[in-house]
Amino acid sequence: MTMEKGSISVQSQNIFPIIKKFLYADHDIFLRELISNAIDATQKLKTLVNKGVVKSEIGDLTIEVVIDEEAKTLTIKDRGIGMSEDEVKKYLNQVAFSSAEEFVKKYKAENTIIGHFGLGFYSAFMVADKVEVVTKSYRRNAKATRWECVGEPEYIIEEADRKDRGTDVILHINEESQEFLEKARIENLLKKYCRFLPVAIKFGTKTETSYEGEGEDAKEIKTEVDNIINNTNPTWKKSPASLKDEDYKNFYEELYPFSQPPLFWIHLNIDFPFNLTGILYFPKLSQQLEVQKNKIQLYSNQVYVTDDVKDIVPEFLTLMHGVIDSPDIPLNVSRSYLQSDHNVKKITGYITKKVAEKLQSLFKKDRELYASKWEEIAPIVKYGMITEEKFYDKAKKFALLKNTEGENFTVEEYQEKVKANQTDKHGKIVFLYANQETDQNTFIAAAKNRGYDVLLLDQIIDNHFIQHLEYKSDNILFVRVDSDTADNLIQKDETVESVLSEKDQEKVKSLFETVLKKEGHTIQLKPLSAEDHPVMITRPEFMRRMQEMQRLQGMGNAQMPEIHQLVINSNHPLIADKLVKMKSEEKKEDFVKYLYDLARLNQQMLKGADLSAFINRSLEFVS
Ligand code: ADP
Repeated sequence: MTMEKGSISVQSQNIFPIIKKFLYADHDIFLRELISNAIDATQKLKTLVNKGVVKSEIGDLTIEVVIDEEAKTLTIKDRGIGMSEDEVKKYLNQVAFSSAEEFVKKYKAENTIIGHFGLGFYSAFMVADKVEVVTKSYRRNAKATRWECVGEPEYIIEEADRKDRGTDVILHINEESQEFLEKARIENLLKKYCRFLPVAIKFGTKTETSYEGEGEDAKEIKTEVDNIINNTNPTWKKSPASLKDEDYKNFYEELYPFSQPPLFWIHLNIDFPFNLTGILYFPKLSQQLEVQKNKIQLYSNQVYVTDDVKDIVPEFLTLMHGVIDSPDIPLNVSRSYLQSDHNVKKITGYITKKVAEKLQSLFKKDRELYASKWEEIAPIVKYGMITEEKFYDKAKKFALLKNTEGENFTVEEYQEKVKANQTDKHGKIVFLYANQETDQNTFIAAAKNRGYDVLLLDQIIDNHFIQHLEYKSDNILFVRVDSDTADNLIQKDETVESVLSEKDQEKVKSLFETVLKKEGHTIQLKPLSAEDHPVMITRPEFMRRMQEMQRLQGMGNAQMPEIHQLVINSNHPLIADKLVKMKSEEKKEDFVKYLYDLARLNQQMLKGADLSAFINRSLEFVS
């Protein structure tokens, strides 16, 4: 056999059923595609006017969408450049032939043309079994043309009777797609895809009510006006210099009606090495991160693409709200393509950088204001620091730690503040923290009493955040105030002399062990300073963190029991003096139990029947 070379030919008979079924997963996309074509045709006309190619009056350019329930048609009408018969043949009869590139090259137009692939028009056949196009070119003396196709490769082309420049695309909606003849369905789709398209889109009329006169005598006046679906000049397209805070807030309201106003925003605007505009908002997030209903919306030349932006925006920023618009993000491609797309990667980096810069500048400009909003932006910033190396490097300059006095510090500032007093014997600077200001009150007080400073880290993400800060800087260590007795929170070389003899210490320890045998704690006897409580329950830092990690990963409590340590301060007068001198065994036992209950009370561990018994016993004591 001889070798033969050739090219694969695509028969349109074969391709039609494929288009019909599989071109887009969502059939409703056809409306977006056809309106995009109408917009392109209109924008091209505007370009020709700007370039002086078209000199005549161009009139109203509103695009119209019309349902005819009787004829079962949906029509998209535009007043754009239209097509000559040759153009119809060239552009509509050849699947996958787009004029976008040609036009942009020829007229050196800005690339605001939506079309790319030359497939959009054929999406009409997903919902229609017959498509008619009646069109007339902008060129002088142009003749109108009618094209008709029933979805087989055969088409009809003939001269038509049409006076105005522009194009009507008439879809004879098929049996399965009758929903697209419903007014509400179409209106919803238009609002979804066309909300910010640059040419006005009219869908029927609506009644507007106004009042003449005042009070009870006011006369209601109803007027029929065009129902214009879109805002043709959305805020993100305007120059930042022309916008006031109010404008940004109003736009937020337009995007997400009935939401709390945003904290602040970033206006994105770049044209090299890719095109991107948009506004990202820092929303008011409540402490409990609720399931997110407001999402960042992705547009391409003002055409809505998706609100699933996780491949374009770094994950931590998906908590933000707003709009990103980039013609460089392809409209109709798969996720895997997006992820490997060069532009998309650059966009991700750019957005991260912009967000960091904005926060940095707010921090520098008005630290007090920034700090007052910190609680609300912290989850996003901390999440970003944990997950994005580059963001971490920038954010460490403006991420804040707050202490229980309400003061705020960057990590570096805080290191400086506590270095002298809170460095342990291994040279680590210990950051003491509480995660519950009220519940851990005694522990906070005890630490402060030692002259230590205590941070408040009470957000869900703080567990991970702490871990990450420790990992990033090898000389800091976080220790929660209830993880040990105040004396031992920061391991120093100092030792406190014991007041009790070794023999008495042994006695006290075995007394506690016998009385509290049932409770199953490991009991430690330590000579601490007299200001520390006589008996304390602590939760060792390392074990507690392991446990929290397990819980966060959804592994439940069953895996690891809560680990507590019972510490007896053998230097406390109630132990060293009172307990040691007691004669009656019964009294000693009661006394030990009472001190133990106090320690439990301090850790919110005294509950139910034990708590009632404790209260009754206390009442007996005082009476
Ligand atoms: P694309 O929009 O990606 O270019 P389409 O298949 O949707 O591809 O359209 C192919 C071509 O048909 C367009 O590039 C354009 O030249 C022409 N066309 C489609 N719709 C219209 C219209 N409403 N007015 C003028 N030209 C149109």
